[in-house]
Amino acid sequence: MLVDNHGRKISYMRLAVTDRCNLRCFYCMPEDGLDWLSRAELMNYEEMLRMCQLMVQMGIEKIRITGGEPFIRKDIMLLLSSISKIDGLKELTITTNGVLTALYVSQLKALGIKSVNLSLDTLDAARFFAISRRDEFAAVMNTLDELLKHDLDVKINAVVMDGKNTQDILPMVELTKNLPVSVRFIEEMPFNGEKHNYAGLHWDHLRILHEIENGYPAIKKLSDDLYSTAYNYQIPGYKGTVGIIAAYSRTFCGTCNRIRVTPQGTLKNCLYDDGVLNIKDLMRAGAKDEEIKQELLNAFSQRPIDGREAERLRKEQALVHESMATIGG
Ligand code: SAM
Repeated sequence: MLVDNHGRKISYMRLAVTDRCNLRCFYCMPEDGLDWLSRAELMNYEEMLRMCQLMVQMGIEKIRITGGEPFIRKDIMLLLSSISKIDGLKELTITTNGVLTALYVSQLKALGIKSVNLSLDTLDAARFFAISRRDEFAAVMNTLDELLKHDLDVKINAVVMDGKNTQDILPMVELTKNLPVSVRFIEEMPFNGEKHNYAGLHWDHLRILHEIENGYPAIKKLSDDLYSTAYNYQIPGYKGTVGIIAAYSRTFCGTCNRIRVTPQGTLKNCLYDDGVLNIKDLMRAGAKDEEIKQELLNAFSQRPIDGREAERLRKEQALVHESMATIGG
């Protein structure tokens, strides 16, 4: 078992396979996109697979593929297929915006993928366009249908943004009446790829809960899994569940079991740190498996206790120039 310097088990790796995306959600990246990484800067699939194999040998049990948008990296199914075959890996999952995903759902299912996180911030096409700057609402809803048709577990992730989609909170809770989905509301974080423009947190987890409780006074708290980042709830009689993720308030660091790897191969011990080791550079310098594992162990023995400490220890203080798309969001 892999354990960090604070006695926390590390068992979950999120790997961002690209920084590119086919949406431009204003809370994630500027309208013109980012300074995209060149091909040479990205880990190639061979490197990603080798890294995943090493991580699983060390104790990682679950891998989530994310981005950017994973489905715009060429031949992503080949990577998913090889990762799915790694001996000892218990769970492979994916986070997607759903624009292109419908086409791949049966293949995902065939690989043994059981759950998919779908990002969807609103149930209104015009608001979807205003938030994401792309007219793709219908495609995303089609992906939701396909995922449900194929009996995949679906978690819908909605970032709650003041003045943009708070009117969607209750309708999205209502989705759980007939659909067996988990709708999770996420606090907006400053990772929007710009130096400014983070208006501060107006909707923290308590305010979101308050809004939901006002609409659904009968809502019940569920017990949360040990490593859950969400506080989970259910409306009695509803098929699905509701979660609230205090991503900015950082209330869940005490049980954090996750690490992240960026598209250029940088290991992050915490979403709020600025990278602790470049795995791709080690590989390209010819490091042997055992050397890479040793470097990883060193990094895992210096994990910050929480996201506040990670933020304080950053070399580059400004959080806000980062985008979730480049940090294994
Ligand atoms: N493209 C995929 C998607 O949209 O699901 C995967 C990558 S995306 C960066 C992962 C998640 O991060 C999405 O659910 C997105 O809404 C969330 N996200 C991006 N920027 C965020 C921010 N500033 N605050 C909170 N969540 C954010």
